[in-house]
Amino acid sequence: MAAYISPELREKIKSANDIVDVIGEYLRLKKVGSNYAALCPFHREKTPSFMVNPRLQIFHCFGCHKGGDVVTFIMEYENISFFEAIKRLAARAGIPLELNTSPESNRLREKREQLLDVHQKLTEYWHNILLKASEAEPAREYLRKRGIDSQVIRIFKLGYAPDRPDDTVRWGRANSIPLQLLEEAGVIIRRENTQEWYDRFRGRVIFPICNEQGWVIAFSGRVLTTDNAVAKYLNSPETLIFRKGRVFYGLDKARRAIMDAGFAIVCEGQIDLIRIHLAGFPNVVAPQGTAFTSEHAQILKRYTDTVVLCFDSDEAGQRAMVRALDALLAAELNVKVAVIPPPDDPDSFILAYGAAAFQKIVNNAMEFFDYYLNRLCSTNDIASDRGKRSVIQQMAEAVSKARSVTLVESIATKTAARLGLTPLSVYTDFMKIYKTMFTDKPSLDAEEPGQEAKTFNMPPREEMWLLQLLLHRPEVTNTVLSYLDISWINSVEARAIIEEIQRRIQLGVVIDAGSLLDCFEDESIRSVITAAGTEQPIFSDLKAFTKDLLRRLRVRHIEKQLVELRRIIVSDAVGEEERHNAFKRFQELQIEKREPFPPATFEIK
Ligand SMILES: [Zn+2]
Repeated sequence: MAAYISPELREKIKSANDIVDVIGEYLRLKKVGSNYAALCPFHREKTPSFMVNPRLQIFHCFGCHKGGDVVTFIMEYENISFFEAIKRLAARAGIPLELNTSPESNRLREKREQLLDVHQKLTEYWHNILLKASEAEPAREYLRKRGIDSQVIRIFKLGYAPDRPDDTVRWGRANSIPLQLLEEAGVIIRRENTQEWYDRFRGRVIFPICNEQGWVIAFSGRVLTTDNAVAKYLNSPETLIFRKGRVFYGLDKARRAIMDAGFAIVCEGQIDLIRIHLAGFPNVVAPQGTAFTSEHAQILKRYTDTVVLCFDSDEAGQRAMVRALDALLAAELNVKVAVIPPPDDPDSFILAYGAAAFQKIVNNAMEFFDYYLNRLCSTNDIASDRGKRSVIQQMAEAVSKARSVTLVESIATKTAARLGLTPLSVYTDFMKIYKTMFTDKPSLDAEEPGQEAKTFNMPPREEMWLLQLLLHRPEVTNTVLSYLDISWINSVEARAIIEEIQRRIQLGVVIDAGSLLDCFEDESIRSVITAAGTEQPIFSDLKAFTKDLLRRLRVRHIEKQLVELRRIIVSDAVGEEERHNAFKRFQELQIEKREPFPPATFEIK
């Protein structure tokens, strides 16, 4: 849903949400000089380089160069759109957003809110039953046996749905919740052609499923028995607020930990997840109710580049791991495998051998292709030619998904070593396989240069000082701009900002970093603005500092020209006339360079 937000409304919402208050709700802020500092939520660091400036209402990280205003922060931190961020900040400040939206989208939004509300209330209801009700004793006993105590029950808000056919229905009636709504939430089911309903979850331990923001959007219920006649897990059906292929169990608790740890552990189920979380890895998620999808991979990609798969040691678990590979490699994630020794799963392994043993397994996680080669070599008879061919075929297919030529070479070499063949022969086999695989598709891509993230450098020191002066000391702006020649500025970003400031002065508009930010969409420019806005030049005498800065910028510019002229003068490739002109200009510039600047009459006006 998109809607137009006028600049006035945007300003109003921004000014009603103080950036220090808002960011303070997410991060621990510490006052440092005129800024507040925190550990950056967008990159991994041990000492704070994330700064918030209350006067200019901006933030900037000197480690990863992310920066912006309060809206940018919410967008980046919550991974939401501009519009969603504005909506949240408006709600936070109690500003009504009178949006021109269709009745249909209003209806959907209302319905979503009602569904979230029902899930929230039901979570509390089932949670309290599990903690207190006598009929939940078998559930508590079951969880105790599985090593899940009341503290864990509280952290994950586990619940118990009583073993009665209509407990949820009765609860809905008692709380005046329309049964129609409970049906849409997927927690009760209507008997065909009647106005009678019965509960979906009966006699099950309930795991609330949350979205990334921590709102409960679905439930997963586990039976207490080991009776194979009933499904071990029962999940909410897809609803307006729950779509299976894109939800992770535990992501709301894992987001920050994934960024801190630099990798995400992916496991298979709720109990494994809880156990791994308790074993010291809060950076763990589990696909909810489906196999791993490409949407799952895209979600993880927002938080990390490395994924450690930690599935059951049984055949089904190992196969699921291999199936997840396509989506993971397509998202260009680096995939590792933490191998749980048979016959355990992560839960039983940690219970039997302890957290330290599990930590060792995670820390020694294998690169996926090494793991896969091991697996193929143990499931095929590699003494036979047939077995060797099968290993080569499957390795070649797996590596092709990574679409990297250097990887093909190194994996071919490793495969050859395991099979007792020469690297060249295996490499040739790989290439033959690719030839048939890609006959009518584009050929295997080489690693293209220029694919790496656009490198961006902050403007040179003097230019940053200049921007800091312009942003922090409005009293010198006019003076500085009257002496400054824009050609002295080397950085494209700094030049764009100064030109915008000049334009604003001509229009008589006040300059502040916040509204300056609104003029630029270019991320590099925005980063420079927020960097300059959160750093102050250090000086004791404003006039002397300004004067010296202007002199430095001018001299630097002259010296740059002198270097270029010297190159022309000594070059064999230029004609006599060009050399002569260059020399003349060289002499003029040397004289210019010695002239006092700014003149002795310099005053801050
Ligand atoms: Zn950062």
